[in-house]
Formats: sequence, structure tokens, C-alpha cells
Amino acid sequence: GQRSTSEMGMHFPDGIFRECQMDCNPRFNDTGGVDGLVVVISDITDRKKTERTLAELYAITSTRELGHEDKIAEILRLGCGHFDLPVGIISHVIDESYTITHAHSPGNTVQPGQSFELQDTYCTLTLQADEPIATGHAGQSEFAGHPCYKLFDIETYIGAPLLVDGIVHGTINFTGRDIRKRPFTSADVQIIRQFADWIGHEIARQRDHQALMDAKIRMERIASIDDLTRILNRRAFLENAATEIQRFRRSNQAFTAVMMDIDHFKSINDQHGHAAGDDILKLFARTIARKLRAVDVFGRVGGEEFCLILSGTGLEDAFRVCERLRKKIVRDCQDPRLSQVVTCSMGLAVSSGEDVEFSSLMQKADTALYEAKMTGRNKCVMHGASPESIAV
Ligand code: GH3
Ligand code: MG
Ligand code: MG
Repeated sequence: GQRSTSEMGMHFPDGIFRECQMDCNPRFNDTGGVDGLVVVISDITDRKKTERTLAELYAITSTRELGHEDKIAEILRLGCGHFDLPVGIISHVIDESYTITHAHSPGNTVQPGQSFELQDTYCTLTLQADEPIATGHAGQSEFAGHPCYKLFDIETYIGAPLLVDGIVHGTINFTGRDIRKRPFTSADVQIIRQFADWIGHEIARQRDHQALMDAKIRMERIASIDDLTRILNRRAFLENAATEIQRFRRSNQAFTAVMMDIDHFKSINDQHGHAAGDDILKLFARTIARKLRAVDVFGRVGGEEFCLILSGTGLEDAFRVCERLRKKIVRDCQDPRLSQVVTCSMGLAVSSGEDVEFSSLMQKADTALYEAKMTGRNKCVMHGASPESIAV
């Protein structure tokens, strides 16, 4: 004697499985008894499917477990399932060229990177329409005359423009070669619009993130470079040096630190002015830097003081390298305007177990440098070596 509602799935003679809602209403006779039912069966397939797809879209987009690329791949998979189509594509359109950036297809036959003329794709129509468009039977529609129909034999298409920050980026589309059994519904158009909205936002977010990272790298670079000489500044050099000490403590592979100081630099400034001094500093840094390996670390640690880390190099080998550098300075770091020859002194110290911090090694190199200054300048001195063994 009461109305009842239930949901069930039914196979229909046209071969389609439909989800149905069955409303049963009792029919009462004159004496109040039930003598029949009025049953209304409604097709709720689309509504159910849309609800499920939207719930899944929400789950994909809100999870923290998937990265950007995985989420896009999941959305294409979801769309292929929802529209019951084999191929899902995200394209990037630049001028007249259509490039696939993401694809879902059987056997991965459609690959990111593939490019087509925009006019050969149905997406050209989508972009012209400036809103989602769809066909379930291209051959019987205005799509029939389109090059895409002839070239790719695509009967079923649903696509939407993809906007990033309000500017056309490309399209999202789902296609198949079969004629569609059921026409696309307005809910389908809403679904693809949702996909396009989310992906557009996500690409914009990803771009912002990339721009931020690029800016950060540029800032870090700017913050670690000495304005005058364009080599590492003191802070950045010491950061690199700390890494080098840690590496040494792990691997026990020795490296040599070299303190360098230009000789009588003050008199260059005094006689020829600060600008001439600056020019020499630039030339000095460039002359040394050119001769180094990518693994070496070279920085300006004071006014006319530089420090060099010769990675993986023991004291004797480092000494030979430094001697070459010293001679190179005498040869190539000269300015015809100056009355004096530009030379430099160097102090070398090799890493050892007691150097827990780089500062203690730098101290030793500095002591050796002091000795070089005290014993005539324009020379290299190794810390810990007896004065007789010092090559001049
Ligand atoms: P020594 O051979 O003992 O090293 O003598 P020096 O004259 O080079 O030594 P000192 O350390 O007394 O002089 C260094 C000079 O470097 C003093 C300072 O004015 C100058 N200086 C420091 N930074 C800069 C700079 O950025 N540009 C210029 N032009 N000069 C600088
Ligand atoms: Mg000096
Ligand atoms: Mg000095």
C-alpha cells in the first residue's frame, strides 16, 4: 500500500545496458485495497555515470599521492572510461601547429610529441567554437567534410578548448573510430568542461611554480657571484668548501686549498687609481678561472685575496698546478698602463684528518701564504714543507 523506489541495471534489446530507476505506485480500489501498480521506469544511466565520474575527478584532483603528470594521465583515463572512447588527448596549439602533450590510447599508439597541422584536426573546430563540441557520427554531420574525417577516420569526437590564464593553450579531446551508440548529453559537455577547467588551472599552477623555481635559481646565482670578478663570492665559496670538507671526510680523498694574494696591490691602487686596481682584480680572476677544471672551486674571499680548492689533488700535484698559475699571472695578467709587474703569492695546504672545518685548512694555507710574502713574494709555499724544499 505504499510507493516504493528502487534502482537496477537492465540489458535492453538494442544491446545497451542501462541503469534504471523503478517507481512503483499502488493503485487503490474503491474499498481501499490495492488492485494494481503503476510502474515508471526511468533511464538514469547518464546521471549515475556523471555522478561517478565527478566523484572520481574530485578524488584524482584532490589527492596528494599523485603528481601533476599522473593526475593528467588519470583524467585522460577517466575520460576514456566515461565517454567510452579509446583515445584521450591533451594538445598544445601554437599558431597552426597541434602537438600532443599527453595521451591515453590502447597500446600507447598515440604518443606525446606527435604534431599535426591544426586544420587537419577537429580541434580547429573546437577552438573556433570557443566551447566544447561533440559528434557521435561524424560521417552524418558537418564534420564529414573535414580533413580529420578523411585523414583519421574519426567518427566520434568530444573536445573542449584548454585555456591557461585566459589564453588558448590547446584542447582536451576524446575520440573513437566507431559511431556512437548513444548521443553525447549535456552532462558529457559539462564533464569535459570540468576536465578542461581543472587541467588549465593545473598547467597555469605548474608554470607559476616553474617560473618561481627559475627565479630562485637566478637569485641564488646572483647571490653567490662576486659583482666585480664574476667568480664565487666569499659566502658561496665557503659553502662549497664546507661541502668539500664533508666529501673528504666521507671518501678520505685529499684536496688542496690555496690562498692567493696579489703582491703590492695597494701600490697599484695608489699609483693608478682604484679603477685600474679593479681591472687587475677582474683580469686576475679570469686568468686563473680559465685554467681550472669544473670540479675546482675558486672564490674571492677578500679584497685582493682569492681561495682555490683543487679537488682530489694532493700537495705535490697542487704545487705544480699553482706554479703554472703563478707564471700565467706574470705572463697574462699585466696591464701596459702599470709601471709594475703584477704578481701573486700563494699558500697551499692539503686536507688532513684534523681539518674538521674548512677554516682550519684555510688558516694553514694562510700561514703558508704569509711565509711566501715574507720570503720574497711571487712564489708558492706549501704548508708544512721545510723552507729549503720551497721551489722559487
Ligand atoms: P702584499 O704584497 O703584502 O699583499 O701587499 P698589498 O699591498 O697587496 O697588501 P694589502 O693587503 O696591504 O693591500 C690590499 C689592498 O687592496 C688594500 C685595498 O685598498 C685594496 N683593495 C681591496 N679591495 C679592493 C677592490 O675591490 N678594488 C680595488 N681596486 N682595491 C681593493
Ligand atoms: Mg696583497
Ligand atoms: Mg691582502
